[in-house]
Amino acid sequence: MSSKYKILVIEDENNIRNFIETILNANDYQTLPAASYEQGLLMYASHTPDLVMLDLGLPDKDGIEFIRFIRKTDATPIIVLSARTGESDKIEALDLGANDYITKPFGTGELLARVRATLRNNRPGMSAGSLPGEKFSLYDLIIDYDRRMVFIGEEEIKLTQTEYNILALLSYHTGKVMTYAAIIKEIWGSSDDGSIKKLQVNMANIRKKLGSKPGDNQYIINELGVGYRMNEENI
Ligand code: CA
Repeated sequence: MSSKYKILVIEDENNIRNFIETILNANDYQTLPAASYEQGLLMYASHTPDLVMLDLGLPDKDGIEFIRFIRKTDATPIIVLSARTGESDKIEALDLGANDYITKPFGTGELLARVRATLRNNRPGMSAGSLPGEKFSLYDLIIDYDRRMVFIGEEEIKLTQTEYNILALLSYHTGKVMTYAAIIKEIWGSSDDGSIKKLQVNMANIRKKLGSKPGDNQYIINELGVGYRMNEENI
């Protein structure tokens, strides 16, 4: 399986989409092209990209609606491609959970810088300053940050991207209580009434996948009403 990052490019102007694809492909990213909101949504659902580049002015629907729809369930990073001069669209996009925006026309260097930064900031273990090749271990739990893989002993534990991101975030802050709000802000970027519930559901899945029984605090300590804490060995 290819380990290249998959980037969905939703843009109806062919020359701009081709320009973005050419740059990204030349820099070892895999691209998925879409020319409309509906096409973008289909590609998103069938390919689960690592990053979405999103034009706001799409022919069939406002790109803002794509952000609104995706953010109901997913933390997949989104960079908005904006030709608009008004700041309100950008602020609205960011408030709805877009990770960054880039204003047209843009150059190669700027595009690549935004993509790199956005992907890096969505790998909590890396963005927090860990070194390439570094691994986290706690008892028989191992997190391989470079490969975004988790093991218990020899067995690989299959986590969703969001579950992995939560676990990696906690591991970097090992031993420290992270509040619901802090985790939610790091993982989803913004919060709403359902955020704590969403976090709790993800956490329950993580604990189940790690083989923890209710009340078992071997890896992750549930600080009731406050947040979660990655355990430390020997304390
Ligand atoms: Ca457009």
